[in-house]
Amino acid sequence: MAVESQLPANYKEPAPILDKENPFESMMQRFDVAAHLLNLEPGLYEYLKTPVKQIVVSIPIALDSGEIKVFEGYRVIHNNILGPSKGGIRYAPDISLDEMKALAAWMTWKCAIMSIPFGGAKGGVKCDPSKLSQLIVEKITRRYTANLLEILGPDGDVPAPDMNTNEQVMAWIMDTYSMHTKKTATGVVTGKPLLLGGSLGRREATGRGCMIVTLSAMDKVGIKPKDSTVVVQGFGNVGSIAAKLLREQGCKIIGIGDVSAAYYNKKGIDLDKAQEWIKQNRTLAGFPGAESIPQDDLLELDCDVLVPAAKEDQITQRNAGKIKAKIICEGANGPTTAKADPILQDKGILVIPDILANAGGVTVSYFEWVQDRIGYFWSEDRVNRRLEKMMKAAFNAVYATAEQYKVPLRIGAYVMAIDKVAKTLKLRGIYG
Ligand code: GLU
Repeated sequence: MAVESQLPANYKEPAPILDKENPFESMMQRFDVAAHLLNLEPGLYEYLKTPVKQIVVSIPIALDSGEIKVFEGYRVIHNNILGPSKGGIRYAPDISLDEMKALAAWMTWKCAIMSIPFGGAKGGVKCDPSKLSQLIVEKITRRYTANLLEILGPDGDVPAPDMNTNEQVMAWIMDTYSMHTKKTATGVVTGKPLLLGGSLGRREATGRGCMIVTLSAMDKVGIKPKDSTVVVQGFGNVGSIAAKLLREQGCKIIGIGDVSAAYYNKKGIDLDKAQEWIKQNRTLAGFPGAESIPQDDLLELDCDVLVPAAKEDQITQRNAGKIKAKIICEGANGPTTAKADPILQDKGILVIPDILANAGGVTVSYFEWVQDRIGYFWSEDRVNRRLEKMMKAAFNAVYATAEQYKVPLRIGAYVMAIDKVAKTLKLRGIYG
């Protein structure tokens, strides 16, 4: 986050990106295929596609100059049939309610396939935190939390970090909620600092989960980690950790990239140097020790495994045909558009879908929530062992479902998730 003490005078919200596929429709196209395979009753179909709650809040903030700026915040609860709704909060200039709806639904399916007793939610504030001071980000966070008091809570709706939010933001949410309820409620958010009831291993969990399912996929395809090459798009929390842990397994990381630049080195990139470079320079741009390549070329590099861990809509019908990887591990949420799915399938690429590939984060969020509730904290080794067990079990279950229905893993994952939520809903019954 930047150091300015107030919004710069020329601060303008960046224009929304218009050429992306509507993420909710992208989600629904896969949902429809799975619902058809399951022969889902029309009433259940209607129920499961509709978010339980969609909240838009206004967040007026007094800047240091005295000027008032109003930000817009969202929280969508897609479903809470399996338990309290769970999902991250992102701060970005181009977010929309439709995007929140898609991301919230993905959380529902993600928790269902991981067998975690949570429903799905997602939220965010339309702002660019890199252009805001820490103080303004704190004010935005506290006001956003205060606006959502009635729905938040360890048994209600439990946020976590997502794009451009972090442990500090979760600490402010926990504190604001606790101030209003007059009790310290650590279980109201996950991804908190360790001192406030966070869990060991949470920070690395999403990247670690990616590594675990990638190894499972390599095993299916017959690729040995030590003979494999990997390309990672996105060098934030997910991408950089996934790259590091895959390298520890013997994989050669030949390509990396972030918002600023992309780099290739066929002998393998020194990830420690890249990490050090980012620490000094904030982005990868200018990183020595690897060849600079156009960012669009990164995804099309010749490699065994591609890990898109940046953001939505990166693999589209425009570039899907040019992808050479044998395995794609979707570290980000929604990096592949629905229109790109059949192209990848025709090429025989094994795609580990986002709702499985990046589920390590919410799985350790669940462990954090459990630890907060019992007030007893686990060792990192215990967290990692349990995560590995759950990721492997989910991969195998998705793989088996995909084989049973003769569909790609993504559809297998949707079938598994929708079936589970629909069955739970039937047992609970409809109130009303
Ligand atoms: N934001 C992460 C995700 O998309 C984590 C959510 C959570 O831990 O609740 O999966």
